[in-house]
Amino acid sequence: MPTAQLINELQSYGVRLVDPKAGHESRRGGAGPSDHKAMTIDGMTVMVPVHTAPAFASPYFIEKPDELGRSRVGRDGVTLGEVSFPVRPRFYDLATADGIPYWKIAVLHSRDVLATTVLQTCIRYQSRTKTCRFCAIGQSLAAGRTVERKTPAQLAEVAKAAVELDGVSHMVMTTGTPPGQDRGASILAESAAAVKAAVALPIQGQCEPPDDDGWFARMKEAGLDALGMHLEVVTPELRARIMPGKSQVPVERYFEAFAAAVPVFGRGQVSTYILAGLGDAKEAILETSERLISLGVYPFVVPFVPISGTPLESHPPPQPAFMHDILRPLALMLRAAGLRATDVKAGCGKCGACSALSTYERGAEEVVGHGAVA
Ligand code: SF4
Repeated sequence: MPTAQLINELQSYGVRLVDPKAGHESRRGGAGPSDHKAMTIDGMTVMVPVHTAPAFASPYFIEKPDELGRSRVGRDGVTLGEVSFPVRPRFYDLATADGIPYWKIAVLHSRDVLATTVLQTCIRYQSRTKTCRFCAIGQSLAAGRTVERKTPAQLAEVAKAAVELDGVSHMVMTTGTPPGQDRGASILAESAAAVKAAVALPIQGQCEPPDDDGWFARMKEAGLDALGMHLEVVTPELRARIMPGKSQVPVERYFEAFAAAVPVFGRGQVSTYILAGLGDAKEAILETSERLISLGVYPFVVPFVPISGTPLESHPPPQPAFMHDILRPLALMLRAAGLRATDVKAGCGKCGACSALSTYERGAEEVVGHGAVA
């Protein structure tokens, strides 16, 4: 089975782990896609759901890994390929002077990405009528797996250790949306400035579009190399249903903000997350992606993962064929526009682990001119 197809299937169905302790700690709860585990298949490190309801019933399974973390993935008793699990990062064993474990301040995503949610609360998460129905930002906080507000000094300390001990190569800073009109731009800027003063590490910030486009230059100057402003869902009526609070910032404001941010950060350094499988038609996702690409924005389309404990925990993940029908033409569009995951300086687009998109991009690079993409 081609690698892109296998990753696509695993990300849609999830996988059953014969040994649930395989790999290091999984992402559970928190902002963005979660209930995943990082694994490397054919040189690509990807996040695959392991703690979701569909994963428990997945036809795919992974055998108990050997002492080097190597294992095999299979289906119906047939081995389909080799997988390996990234080792537990060394910085997880450290703690701040006041006793906070570093892993509560930032965590390793994929293989070499340091990720943090600077502010673990969100104005959108405080009432059932406003919360994004897929989001679990409060769950890891309630479970004591993180701290509410990571200070700039804590982030700088952990980032330096993660670079020195584990060779992380870029950092993602996301945030719940605080009260106020900057929608998190200010805390991202002060956090990035502190990290950059401690260690040379490319950083992506992720927030809603701030009210004032002047924030883009301030964030860039503070040390952010790339910026994500995440649409999540593209059809306005569906946005209102799935994200009653966040959709108060309309799609058109996102597009204005993208147009203002790209000249500051550069083509391909501004991105957006689109969660496929929540009800947007594939045509709608591809049309929006085309518009984004024409502005120089990288559309990171990922399969929706139903996180346990959220209102959408029973919503089915997208079928692999649905993802294939989006990712294949999207990879070709990106290639034609000269936008590449590998050129993104930092963040989710560069990491790529939550989607098979970069695997499809690799396929588009290899076979363009030969008329097919794996
Ligand atoms: S794509 Fe983003 S959210 Fe997913 S593992 Fe990579 S850095 Fe984390």
